[in-house]
Amino acid sequence: MADYSIKRFSAYSNAELRGALRKFAASKNAAHVSSRAFSEATGIAEATVINHFGSWREFCAQAGLAPRYQRTVSHQILFENLERVWQQLGRQPRAKEMKQPLSSISISRYQKAFNEPWYRLCLQFLSWKSGAPVSEIEREAAAAPSSTQKPRGSRREVTLSLRYAILKRDRFRCVKCGASPATNPATQLHVDHVIAWANRGETILQNLQSLCSDCNLGKSNRHDG
Ligand SMILES: [Zn+2]
Repeated sequence: MADYSIKRFSAYSNAELRGALRKFAASKNAAHVSSRAFSEATGIAEATVINHFGSWREFCAQAGLAPRYQRTVSHQILFENLERVWQQLGRQPRAKEMKQPLSSISISRYQKAFNEPWYRLCLQFLSWKSGAPVSEIEREAAAAPSSTQKPRGSRREVTLSLRYAILKRDRFRCVKCGASPATNPATQLHVDHVIAWANRGETILQNLQSLCSDCNLGKSNRHDG
């Protein structure tokens, strides 16, 4: 049996907990994991997880595992329709554009199904496509340019439209190892600067690539991000 255990008696970091959950989910080839199964396999109590993340659901989300509700058939249909509209427009659709003839499903059905603002629903869609946590996608979409740096040709933030364009160009796979959330739900695709932002790499299609967590980590150990 694989060793899922991480240091038992020291304080866990959030990253360690997320890593343990991802590893466990990958070993089961599971899109979601119950807190009980996780506790039994790792010895990490649910209470520990709640202490760190507030809820089991948030823990799963931050580890890049889809909450159960995202994988329902009806949500899949809604996301697939959103993707068709997105591809037709070549950018993130606006809420008011979700109507005939562009969209075969009305905005009110999305609102009913998700009960979230349109922007957050688009975040969830990208999370669903890439396996990356909503929190990461949101953070990168809102990244502020550093005021201490000289003006650049692009801004640091990765908009949702740009993120989708990169993932689509890379066919929703890691460009290094080919890992895909479509075939392995534990895969998280991150959008990575080929030349790091810190080294004056721009946030443009040509300087961005889809990398899975493992390849992304391997890269950042060698270079600067
Ligand atoms: Zn990879």
